[in-house]
Amino acid sequence: MDQKTAYVIDFDGTITTRDLSSELAAYFGGSEYMKIENEYRRRNIPIKTWLRRIARHMPDDLELLNNKALQWAVIRPGFEYFLDHAQKNECPVIIASDGFGFYIEPILEEHGLLKQISRIYRNETFKGTDGLEVNNPHAHKTCAVCGNCKAAHVVNLKEEGRAVIYIGDGSNDRFGASWGDIICARDRLAEICREQKFNYSQWIDFYDIIKVGKPDLHDRSLVSLCCPMGDGVK
Ligand SMILES: [Mg+2]
Repeated sequence: MDQKTAYVIDFDGTITTRDLSSELAAYFGGSEYMKIENEYRRRNIPIKTWLRRIARHMPDDLELLNNKALQWAVIRPGFEYFLDHAQKNECPVIIASDGFGFYIEPILEEHGLLKQISRIYRNETFKGTDGLEVNNPHAHKTCAVCGNCKAAHVVNLKEEGRAVIYIGDGSNDRFGASWGDIICARDRLAEICREQKFNYSQWIDFYDIIKVGKPDLHDRSLVSLCCPMGDGVK
């Protein structure tokens, strides 16, 4: 029998050409943005803390933020063809995002792509009593690093018997990617794959992803960078 396969895909900088969470933070975050960003880049704070801290310096007007994201969003070439390819091959497409996330459905809807997405795991950004707040409904119970435990989504699919093709671009994709049966990496994620000596498929746009063959299901527990069913980051 043909190996069942699923795609797990990051959103910002992967499906869209730009990282909309970073761009919204830079645009609205004022002078605090670079301070928080530098702490994140030095790995002094995890992405979960980055989101919460930067949110405090952004306007709590979600309509304004959403309109900016819609205005800036450019879908990476080939995504529509890739979705048709995945559907034809009965491979579910799962989005896993560790950004602000509120703009994902509106952007996909605007481009007529939302119906072809099987599932979206994302953070929840909302207007709270103290301004803009971020909830992490898909975080690991104890691990402090990711707001959205992408590795858990990959592992759950594998436990259902699906091999996973992980597609991403950023450093916080490294945990989910490390469980992938094939890793499609670009930008910072590709650098990390080289550092970790992970085999990966370099990609530029979604036409490259269509060319990637179907993987076998592998046990990645020894080489993965975290253990979502255990204590999280190793
Ligand atoms: Mg990204």
